[in-house]
Formats: sequence, C-alpha cells, structure tokens
Amino acid sequence: NPRRTPLIAGNWKMNLDHLQAIAFVQKLAWNLKDAKHDFSAVEVAVFPPFTDLRSVQTLVSADKLPLAYGAQDLSAQDSGAYTGEISGGFLSQLECQYVLIGHSERRTLHGEDDEQVAAKVKAALKHNLVPIICVGETAADLELHGPSAVPVAQLKAALSGVSNAADIVVAYEPVWAIGSGQAATPEQAEQVAAQLRNVLKDTLGEDVAARTRILYGGSVKGVNIAGYMREPNLDGALVGGASLDIDEFSSIVRFQK
Ligand code: PEP
Repeated sequence: NPRRTPLIAGNWKMNLDHLQAIAFVQKLAWNLKDAKHDFSAVEVAVFPPFTDLRSVQTLVSADKLPLAYGAQDLSAQDSGAYTGEISGGFLSQLECQYVLIGHSERRTLHGEDDEQVAAKVKAALKHNLVPIICVGETAADLELHGPSAVPVAQLKAALSGVSNAADIVVAYEPVWAIGSGQAATPEQAEQVAAQLRNVLKDTLGEDVAARTRILYGGSVKGVNIAGYMREPNLDGALVGGASLDIDEFSSIVRFQK
C-alpha cells in the first residue's frame, strides 16, 4: 500500500546490555548501509531494554543512523511514587519514537489487562510516542473463539476513549506463534489483520485506518517474511528471536516481495 511505509521492528526483550546494544546497533546500521538498504522504503526500528536507550540515543544521534527505536513498555503515569516504572515523558526525552504496549509477555507474565493497555496507549500519545499496540490470541482462545475474536476485542479495548490517534501501529501476534517456530500462515495473519483494520475504521475513521500499519509477529524469519509482505493488510513485522541475529534481521528488513 503506497500510503503505508513498511516497518520492521525488532523486540530484543531482556537481551543485550547497554554495551552489547552499542556494538549491535552500529553493526546493524553498517550492515544495512553496505547492502544499500533504502530506509525510506522500509523503516527499521529496535526495541532495547530501558537501560540501553540512552546509549542507543547517543549513538543514533552522533552517527546520524537512520534507525528508529523505542521502549518495550511504559507506565500509564507521568511521574510519582511508582517504583520501578518508566514514564512516557522519560522516553520521549530520549527521542524514542515508538513504544510497545500490551506485548503478550506483559499481559501473561505481568498480568496487564485491557484497561491498563488502554491507559498506556493514552500515555504514549500524550507524550508524542507512537504506540505499537500488540494483540493476539492464545492457542486456547483460538480453539474456543476462532482466530479474530480475541485480537479484535483487545484492539477495541486498547482504543477505548482514544480519539486523536493519528499515528499508531497495531501488531497482530498470535501468542501460540511467539517464540514457537510455528508461525501463522500469511493467509491466517491477513484474515485477522483485515478484521483489525475494520476495528480501526469503526473507531478512528477511514483515513486513520487506511494509513495505520498493521504488523504481523510470531516466528518471523528471513525465509517467511515475504509471504506476509504480499498480503494487502500487513505492513511489516514485529520480530523477537530473529531480531537478535544481525544477518537474520537484515534479511527480514531486506525482504523481496
Ligand atoms: C515477539 O515476542 O514479539 C515475537 C514476535 O517473538 P518471535 O519473533 O521470537 O516469535
């Protein structure tokens, strides 16, 4: 779709400390520049741990690297007595462009519910961060409700009370496909993405729906990325495991349809 620049996003999870992050980001940028990657045609973003972000900011700004970056989570609050939390204001001061919200590991391991996800989406927008709203069904949900019911409900909930979301990203990540090596087929992912775009239409209007990128996530690799990118409602990928291998991640970024 000409209105949507594909986005390949690497979620490092709790991997790479701030020194490893510097080496990694530098090598990734060199690798892609050597391969003459056109960053305006396919945007690349990395999501390091919080403690890496200042180092990544320093490197990206000093070397003018064409990489975007963001955090893996944020607090719904701006500041105060919230031990261990990180506010959206802190992230935008570090020139983060994006923030992941509602990743399945936050939902399952940290008990984040739809209400918290919605509050975090509002906090991200308030601080001029583009939220990457993660939704997806578990294997049990899939069996009970089919593929799209849970992701559709999660996206509706995440957008409740949001009216001015001109710039958001949605990541469809079936929980059963994350880190399992068992990726959804492009057809399966497209079917859900089409439903998610309908939710965007109903909640935010045609225009926002038409320019919002919907990513697929779940065991994406160099060998399977092209299939997703051929689907009309998929505009990129959120990559976990494969984002930690520079050659593998580069081959995802440089997909050929
Ligand atoms: C993720 O956790 O966002 C993810 C997609 O992981 P993986 O690529 O390892 O399945």
